[in-house]
Amino acid sequence: MKLAFIGLGAMGFPMARHLTKQHEVIVWNRTREKAERHAREHGSRLARDLAECAGAEVIITMLPTSKEVDEIVDQLTPHLRKGTLWIDATSGDPNVSRETAGRLAGKGVAFVDAPVTGATIGAENATLTIMVGGSGEDFARAEPILKIVGKTIIHVGPAGAGHAIKVLTNSIMGATVWITSECLLLAKQFGIDLKTALAVTNAGSGRSNASENLLPMRLVEGKWPLIFKLVHHDKDIRIATSIAHQQHASTPLLALTQNLFSAALHQLGDKADYIEVAKIIAEMNGTTWEAS
Ligand code: NDP
Repeated sequence: MKLAFIGLGAMGFPMARHLTKQHEVIVWNRTREKAERHAREHGSRLARDLAECAGAEVIITMLPTSKEVDEIVDQLTPHLRKGTLWIDATSGDPNVSRETAGRLAGKGVAFVDAPVTGATIGAENATLTIMVGGSGEDFARAEPILKIVGKTIIHVGPAGAGHAIKVLTNSIMGATVWITSECLLLAKQFGIDLKTALAVTNAGSGRSNASENLLPMRLVEGKWPLIFKLVHHDKDIRIATSIAHQQHASTPLLALTQNLFSAALHQLGDKADYIEVAKIIAEMNGTTWEAS
């Protein structure tokens, strides 16, 4: 099958690489050098231009937000063919993706939102969890392709449902990272060794992905890799709060989490990783995570 992959960032680059093993994949990226490298090293073919992507049977986008996806949809619309399937793997805005699905349907193009979770390691190892919004028929078309890049593929509901659950689950993670960091810092300030505090947390009811995987590397080993940009995480939590707003829901902890992450983003800047919010928590308390 001929696939077009648009957006070779931290996630898209390895995802497109897996697809080349089973399909003919053409790649396009805003910064052309990345697409050239993908074609050179990973068996894809460099698209002549963006418009060439419209000729594929399946178009996959992996971009920062729904805004960039919409810009690409606008540019490709004159070239799109009836019967094409568009898979948007971006962590996007469910309301925007519903509109996008409607616009594409007018051209006879099917749309599913298929955001992913599992971080860059999941993209590298093709073990992502993928949550899909779209009709049953479109899901059935997308599933075999998504199985090449992911391990668990879940049909969540109609168009937009994938994007909605993605930002909600990321908000759970954000709040967990924040509270876990706060309490570990308190333990440290109380004189408890961080490794010990983590060992107890992970053997007890405070255990989470944050305490088991995300925080030990940073807080104990002092390694702060850029895995998932804070700017993307902040975007996800802001979309979650917009869903709450739309539903007239009372979600004070979600609102607080959004406020904290947005404040941290202003402090840390666009290049920070999301777990660096732990540095802000230490700063708020006039200290650092380094051993004293
Ligand atoms: P990156 O910032 O690494 O990559 C973004 C990609 O989008 C790049 O290919 C970039 O091109 C392209 N891009 C940016 N702006 C534009 C534009 N205006 N027009 C066209 N292309 C553009 O992001 P990630 O790969 O980390 O994330 C992608 C999506 O996946 C996000 O929605 C994120 O929330 C989500 N996600 C990320 C995870 C992670 O751990 N990183 C985990 C799960 C989901 P260029 O190379 O030119 O900059």
